[in-house]
Amino acid sequence: MAQRTYDVVIIGSGPAGYTAALYAARASLKVLVFQGFESGGQLMLTSDVENYPGYREGVMGPEMMDDFEAQAARFGAEMRPENIERVDLSERPFELWAEDEDEPTLAKTVVIATGAKAKWLGLESEQQLMGKGVSGCATCDAFFYRGKKVAVVGGGDTAMEEAGVLAKFADEVFLIHRRDEFRASKIMLERARKNPKITFITDTVVEEILGRDAVEGVCIRNTKTGEERTIEVSGFFTAIGHTPATSLFEGQLEMKEGGYVIQKENTMTSVPGVFAAGDVSDTRYRQAVTAAGDGCRAAIDSERWLEERGEAEGAEDPAVWTAEKDVANF
Ligand SMILES: Cc1cc2nc3c(=O)[nH]c(=O)nc-3n(C[C@H](O)[C@H](O)[C@H](O)COP(=O)(O)OP(=O)(O)OC[C@H]3O[C@@H](n4cnc5c(N)ncnc54)[C@H](O)[C@@H]3O)c2cc1C
Repeated sequence: MAQRTYDVVIIGSGPAGYTAALYAARASLKVLVFQGFESGGQLMLTSDVENYPGYREGVMGPEMMDDFEAQAARFGAEMRPENIERVDLSERPFELWAEDEDEPTLAKTVVIATGAKAKWLGLESEQQLMGKGVSGCATCDAFFYRGKKVAVVGGGDTAMEEAGVLAKFADEVFLIHRRDEFRASKIMLERARKNPKITFITDTVVEEILGRDAVEGVCIRNTKTGEERTIEVSGFFTAIGHTPATSLFEGQLEMKEGGYVIQKENTMTSVPGVFAAGDVSDTRYRQAVTAAGDGCRAAIDSERWLEERGEAEGAEDPAVWTAEKDVANF
């Protein structure tokens, strides 16, 4: 059986992937989204999202992603739940293999929107209280901790920045770090040290996050003395870095330090016809709205790129579009 060739194949179903799908499908391109095992992306891990424009009362993360999916599907974007396991971006049409598939899906253009996962400590209690006081994003959630006490774990620039953001709202911020030396730049470290609301707790690891339906405290252990104690907090933020989901593209695309895909020209990567959107190439903002904005840019870039080559077939009744015809037209 001849494989279908899509105008745009999108890898990832977070805000970036679904927005790219919406724009590309509304431009009458043939669009397929590989949603991946974590359909809906990072926002499925959270409860209230209050900083996405358009929801005046805020919205639950999973509900919002449901809306994103339905809106893209309404314009004809096809959805498949699988992960992509392998890609060949060396020539066009690009080839993408979903899990357990021998035949690749063919794509005239690809939008990579696989995101970047916050690193977690790996505690069971951390998983249980995710979205109930455990967070990986101070910009997103600091607002909920006005007048409260919170803990941040980490020793790099991100941790210093997150602690600073939280200190604008919380009464006290405990910055917990496993060593007494910091990876953070001198200027960021000094700024955090000078902040009267930030208390440094060094040579210390987190043993457990306490609470049943909400964070109530953290049990910590000093690595030098072995002493254990509990501090009362109602928010717990990990700031130990992010891992972009890009191992799939290693050796095929240019990446910057840490494995983030480089957008070379607008959203286009080092491979013409392959675009990147959202947290997968963003080391700075990591917000739903910026990821969605990037998804929009990637879809427009992809559409224009196809148009310049006379390859955007335009609106066509899907009923008369056959796989055979499409492969022949490529
Ligand atoms: C706990 C938490 C709370 C947050 N709260 C907020 C908030 O309130 N407001 C806000 O603006 N931001 C918030 N964020 C940040 C926000 O979630 C991210 O910035 C945003 O989700 C990034 O969107 P994205 O589309 O780039 O990637 P993601 O949302 O990470 O989506 C990545 C997608 O790629 C898919 N994928 C990965 N690998 C593959 C593969 N090989 N094949 C197929 N699919 C693949 C995954 O299944 C997933 O669907 C929060 C983040 C966390 C962790």
